[in-house]
Amino acid sequence: MTVSYQPPGSFVLEAGRGKAIRVAPGTLVKITNPYGTQAIDFWAYNAEDTAEYVSTEHIRSVNSTVPVNKATRIVSWKRRPLVSIAEDTSSGDHDTLLCACNAAIYAELGCEGYHRSCADNLHEGLGELGVEVPFTPGPVNLFMSVRAEPDGTLTRLLPTSKPGSHVTLKAERDVIMAFSCCPQDVTTINGPDRTVRDCLIEVLPPSGEGVA
Ligand SMILES: [Zn+2]
Repeated sequence: MTVSYQPPGSFVLEAGRGKAIRVAPGTLVKITNPYGTQAIDFWAYNAEDTAEYVSTEHIRSVNSTVPVNKATRIVSWKRRPLVSIAEDTSSGDHDTLLCACNAAIYAELGCEGYHRSCADNLHEGLGELGVEVPFTPGPVNLFMSVRAEPDGTLTRLLPTSKPGSHVTLKAERDVIMAFSCCPQDVTTINGPDRTVRDCLIEVLPPSGEGVA
């Protein structure tokens, strides 16, 4: 099955939900965080071979850094950049250490019955494109604030971005980007009020066409 390219335009990434889109090389995708508090788990796959995906282990290895920013090479496990950050008005906290939330985490947290998760959102979003992948890679956690302490422990901080902050991603190859508006409402990773909120995603037209 051939996956169609996402046309220019915007859509709401609903609170707690996910979406995957295919975009051509050079496409800019703007992710806006209206409240500044919402973490968005992000993955990218080579659209022509989804066995190649952005690898947070290799991002940390290639760049020798933990958070990602405009200077970071956001690479696959083949160590080729699949995407980059073209613009970033957020606080710059984009974690690469924590896993996507999944059913096991919500069970540990005492949730009874089904709770949406970033892992499920990834597979649902890809599934809507007819794409199946065998596992959930470590995500780039946009707008998520996690600090590695000198003593080796990790601290999950409250969100640090201002309302209306955005990150613009650039496709460095033909890629499928997947986003999950993290449904975590048990811990405070999405803010002290534990409230999951909508975000906005905008696929910008190719340069030269202008934005209507
Ligand atoms: Zn999550």
